[in-house]
Amino acid sequence: MLRGSQMLRRAVIHVSGIVQGVGFRPFVYRLAIHHNLKGYVLNLGDAGVEIVLEGEDSAINEFVEDLKSKKHPTARIDYLKITLMQYKGEFNDFKIETSSPRTSQVLSTVPPDVGICDDCIADILTPGRRWYHYPFTCCAVCGPRFTVICDLPYDRERTSMVDFPLCRDCLKEYEDPLDRRYHAEGICCPICGPQMFLYDNKGDLVDDSNPIVTAAKLLSEKYIIAVKGIGGFHIAATAVDDDVVLELRRRRKRKSRPFAVMSPDIPTIRTYAIVSEQEEKLLKSYQRPIVLLRKSPGYYLSKWVSPGLHNVGVMLPYTGIHLLLLHYCHEPALIMTSGNIPGEPMVIDNANAFRSLGNIVDYFLVHNRRIVNRCDDSVLRVTSNLPTFIRRSRGYAPTPIHLDTLKSNVTVLSLGAELQVTGALLREDKCFLTQHIGDVDNYSALNFLKDALSFLLKVTRTKHIDVVVCDLHPNFSTTRLAQLLAEKYNAELIQIQHHFAHLSSLIAESGVSLDDPVVGIVIDGYGYGLDGTAWGGEIILYKDGEFERLGHLRYQPMPGGDASAKYPARMLAGMLSTILPLREVRDFLMSHCLDGFKHGAAELDAVLKQLAKDFNVPRTSSLGRVLDAFSALFGLCYERTYEGEPAMKLESFALSASKSSSININTPLILDKTITINVNDLLRQVINLIESKETIPANIIAREIHRSLAKALAEAAIQVAESVDTHLIGISGGAAVNDLIVSTIENEVRKNGYKLLRHRSVPPGDGGISLGQAFAASLKYQH
Ligand SMILES: [Zn+2]
Ligand SMILES: [Zn+2]
Ligand SMILES: [Zn+2]
Repeated sequence: MLRGSQMLRRAVIHVSGIVQGVGFRPFVYRLAIHHNLKGYVLNLGDAGVEIVLEGEDSAINEFVEDLKSKKHPTARIDYLKITLMQYKGEFNDFKIETSSPRTSQVLSTVPPDVGICDDCIADILTPGRRWYHYPFTCCAVCGPRFTVICDLPYDRERTSMVDFPLCRDCLKEYEDPLDRRYHAEGICCPICGPQMFLYDNKGDLVDDSNPIVTAAKLLSEKYIIAVKGIGGFHIAATAVDDDVVLELRRRRKRKSRPFAVMSPDIPTIRTYAIVSEQEEKLLKSYQRPIVLLRKSPGYYLSKWVSPGLHNVGVMLPYTGIHLLLLHYCHEPALIMTSGNIPGEPMVIDNANAFRSLGNIVDYFLVHNRRIVNRCDDSVLRVTSNLPTFIRRSRGYAPTPIHLDTLKSNVTVLSLGAELQVTGALLREDKCFLTQHIGDVDNYSALNFLKDALSFLLKVTRTKHIDVVVCDLHPNFSTTRLAQLLAEKYNAELIQIQHHFAHLSSLIAESGVSLDDPVVGIVIDGYGYGLDGTAWGGEIILYKDGEFERLGHLRYQPMPGGDASAKYPARMLAGMLSTILPLREVRDFLMSHCLDGFKHGAAELDAVLKQLAKDFNVPRTSSLGRVLDAFSALFGLCYERTYEGEPAMKLESFALSASKSSSININTPLILDKTITINVNDLLRQVINLIESKETIPANIIAREIHRSLAKALAEAAIQVAESVDTHLIGISGGAAVNDLIVSTIENEVRKNGYKLLRHRSVPPGDGGISLGQAFAASLKYQH
């Protein structure tokens, strides 16, 4: 139809992606009004939204362009289909239709928490506005979601904001389609919303009129304060004062595990850390994760924040609480570490905080909004140019991972391994991962896992489970929980080998065809092997839905088992015993590594005796343990106080070396039915270098050790890839965040014409295991 010289048309547009709970429909509404278009936008639940437009042809085109380019970054369009039709003149205006019978049949997803947006920051910092200095300010595109949601659909009544009925002004904004707070379920203001309070550690109220300002002042006066945020409590303290940081370590019983810090803005972060463009983007992203950044040469935060490491975990404020706290305390960085009893999940309610953190902190800065779902901060690191998850939690969870290559015939629940656990629910082509649960070696963490899984089952309306999956380890608490759940749901119990699960998670998220074989380099600290030994440096082939181990690091003796994981010098003694007579092992360790044995020569002799008798000396093919041994060799770490500590310190040490060197060491492969990577030969060469007359800086040797191990792993994978005629090699496992190793492998693999698959959506470490378990189990039912 023609009106003037313009063509009138009707367009039906389907959009899917992340378009729920991110203010997408009001955005569509405003665009339609702006372009003078009539019609409606309709929520189709997880299937996306439907937009029906009528108006001038050119206006429709401009609308679509704006839809793509002007949407808020929290929204993501994965799919957009436009059907042009004949103009009907059916509408008088543009409307937001809220519900449709078509929405009920699809799997709905809970939106993740979104860091505070620039408009809300302006509201908080501009005198005279209603939200001036109000820490809970949020809008349709920002604020807590997952952490306040009890159930779906996402309406205020089903969030912890139900305790705070909207005042007249807020209600007006909630109902005004042109307002940026239109239909934003979490909005509030100083009149109607939650409030902050400051208490001392005896439980006495200190300040309820200006609690954040007072808390900020106390932080700059070196006090330690528990701060209730969105997903739980942080413990906050200044990051520049050695005494304060050491006092916090003492009270927190945390010897050297790094603390994360929060800084007000990027220019401030740049005064102590190096921030690449990519890292800046990550820090400022709406998920606001912790990003591990290299310390700059002028690094001036306390060295006790992340002792012995080249990097430090940094984040930007993601709520008004943090924004105001940083604004008033004038510190370049505050330690913001999770508030918990060591080993237990983060505290989320006020009463529990007073009980369990009272002897750690001096004050409590709390508020009266309930935290429904606990959610720790996410952690990423740019490894070999790719943002890589160390922990996928706040801002990402519980957004499902879409599986491009699988529509599962069965509903699967998986429980992860034991450390850095997440659980997962796989239904159809979606895998919902829980937030970070942590190490489930205690009762409360295991309960947290159960609760997090129950929440996923509730919001997805999942009543029936076909399969429950866990690790192969017979004694993990997740294995026992899996047995109970399998009984409860009358489901089949499947155990998936740890490193098979790692590779499976990579294949799941990469979306490569399931018909293509993939050779996986899976490197980590520990996983129970099919032969009962401790695996951790594996070459695994995926082919036709099955996994097979075709190569591994040479087995190393671990005198005392776990004791060797805790005290790396024991691991070194074990490795040395395979290349030197025990007497020479003793001589070498006496002169090079005696400090590695707490009780000196007596302890060393006991370890050597154990090796001689081969009593309680399990074997391991773990790369982590090999790196641990080298870490002890260079005197970098004699006691592991947190997971990965010796290997992380070795990497930091290696990265401090200048790039060019003439030394030449290599890790040979032994080719048989399977490939053995002979790390003992590497150790022999390193010992020779150390004992030779030329003085080579130890950090250069450390760097070449990383390169050599990485090259051997790449070479082994390439050999297998050649033999099965695939071009796909993948890397997974907790050590796949090591920049030196990953970048070397990436180089080698590409140089030889292969493609390297890497993790983008889930951690390469054990936080990704649940996805891999669920995917591998589901493969068994695909025909
Ligand atoms: Zn906002
Ligand atoms: Zn209000
Ligand atoms: Zn692992």
